[in-house]
This record gives sequence, C-alpha cells and structure tokens, in this order.
Amino acid sequence: MPRAFITGITGQDGQHLAEFLHAKGYEVFGMVKGQNNPKFTAMRDEFPYVEPVPGDLADLPSLVKALDFAQPDEVYNLGAISFVALSFNQAELTANITGLGVLRMLEAVRMVGGAQHNPIRFYQASSSEMFGKVRETPQTERTPFHPRSPYGCAKVFGHDIVVNYRESYGLYACSGILFNHEGPRRGLEFVTRKVTNSVARIKLGLQQEIVMGDLEPQRDWGYAGDYVRAMWLMLQQDQPDDYVVATGETHSIRELLDRAFAEIGVDDWAPYVRQDPKFFRPAEVDLLIGDSSKARERLGWKPEVDFPALVKMMVAHDLEVEAARLNR
Ligand code: GDP
Repeated sequence: MPRAFITGITGQDGQHLAEFLHAKGYEVFGMVKGQNNPKFTAMRDEFPYVEPVPGDLADLPSLVKALDFAQPDEVYNLGAISFVALSFNQAELTANITGLGVLRMLEAVRMVGGAQHNPIRFYQASSSEMFGKVRETPQTERTPFHPRSPYGCAKVFGHDIVVNYRESYGLYACSGILFNHEGPRRGLEFVTRKVTNSVARIKLGLQQEIVMGDLEPQRDWGYAGDYVRAMWLMLQQDQPDDYVVATGETHSIRELLDRAFAEIGVDDWAPYVRQDPKFFRPAEVDLLIGDSSKARERLGWKPEVDFPALVKMMVAHDLEVEAARLNR
C-alpha cells in the first residue's frame, strides 16, 4: 500500500486529496497541529481513514518525527497561511509558515529520505498569486513572478526553494502552480464561497445583503476536486517538474455575482450588494489567467468542472446546508 503524508489536511485541498488518495488505495497520514485541534476533530467522521500525526510547519524537529513515523512515499505540502487578506495583517507569520515552512519540510524530507531505491517524492502547493501584477497574459511556468502580498512573496520563496533543493540535492520535488480552485469545502472567507453562501442565505431570508470589496479583479477559477488529481499526477512522472494548473478562462467578481444570483432567480443583484473599503486590499492582483498546456500535454490532465457548473454546485450545496441549519 503506498503511503502519503499531507500537511494542511484540514483545509479544502487536504480533504479532497485525502479522499482521492484513499480511493486509490493509499494509506493517508495527515499532519495535525496544536492541541485538540477543533478542525481535525470536525473531520474525523468524514475521513476516518486519515491517520493524524502531530506536527507543525514552524517546528522542524516535529516534522522530522512526523515523517519518520509515517514513512511516506509521497509528501504533499498544502499547509499554509492561505488567505491573502490575512497575510497583510500577519505578514511575519505568513513568511514563517507559508515560506519557511517549505524549507523545513524539504529539510525533513532530506533527513528522513525514504528507502534508497524509493526516495520520498515531494509536492509543493505553489500559487498563481506569485504572478501578482502579471508580466504577461496568460501566465505559464516561465512567466516572471511579481507578488502583490506577503502571501504571494512567501509562496515565491517556497517555489524557489523547491527548485533549488531539486537542483542542489536531486530531490524528487515538484511545484504545482495552481490557480484559484474552489468548491463547497472552500472557507467562507474566500470570495467564491462568501458569495455562494450569502446568496443561499438571502434566498432563505437569513441575510439581507453582501458586503464586498473590489468587484473588478478577474480570476481563473477551477474546481478543487479536479486540481488534486493534477497534484498526484505530478508525483507519478519519471522526472520532477513544475506545472501550471488552470482552466484558461477568467471571470470577474461581477460575473461571479451574476452567476450566483442567477441560481436563485435574481437578475439585478445591485440592491443586495454593498461595498466596504475594509474588504479592499493594500495591493491587488487584477487579472489571473493560466496556460496549463504543459500539464495537459505531459500529465494528460484537464479540468472537468467549468465556471458555471462550479458556481451552480456551490450555491446548491450552500442552499442545502443553510436550509438544514434552518430546520434544526
Ligand atoms: P485570492 O485570489 O487568493 O486573493 O482569493 P479570494 O477569494 O480571497 O479573493 C479573490 C478576489 O476577490 C480578490 O481580488 C479580492 O480582492 C476580491 N474580493 C472582492 N470582494 C471580496 C470579499 O469580500 N472577500 C474576498 N475574500 N475577496 C474579495
């Protein structure tokens, strides 16, 4: 049975990946930080097959112990301070976890190593936020980085150190440059889920309005369930490499509102949406659109869920969740 070790197991991608690898026959280990972590307790019923292993991306000895215990074939580093807006307020913490955490994981992988004939394969969750103020459109693996937030800066460090360790020590280490990917498991702080959940609550009479930030930015939004497949595919190749994972389509926040409100039969959403400066960011990423030709050609990967289907899935899920809460 192959063994996989996942950091960020309680996050959206950790859950999708655990489900995906379990279905493929993997033994799945999930790194859990803190004492009595409430997020992990909440997951136990849905993912009974995930074996929790204590560890923290800020603590190298704990990572070495965790890998030594799990003896994984594959390590997926998905753990991070992942919310761009938060990274402006907690920039040092973001640099430490999202940036230096990658270096610590790589060191732990080097120390624990795995069997000589079967070295540990490492996946790093890189991000389209590294492109920031984009230098070219669409963005590829060769597009220069210009991050626009402490989160983006930390991800650039994580990305570069993965490349450096691959070149310096011959590690099998890959970076997936994933564009935004969403779904019903997305945290409510992210714009897609904030909108779909609010729209569901408006429909059910539980909420009157949505308070938003900038409506003009454009994102290349895919479905998280599709994107974890690309992570796994990267680790099944003969040679480690970096890949952009994206749909190749971009949509503005306005279009997201159009789609989500259309799902509840509202054409003109203006009366329901208010903007507040507190949701604007000190620097913005205006446009992201990825070219995933390399992943499509070499990995045989392609997304299955498009933007309209994604928004439909998320609104339907939120209507169900909010209605159930109402009836409880
Ligand atoms: P990001 O691309 O990782 O920053 O993902 P988010 O979902 O947090 O934000 C996507 C875009 O939506 C950014 O350009 C935000 O500025 C914009 N946005 C506009 N209003 C909001 C809001 O109320 N919440 C969030 N999270 N983003 C918003």
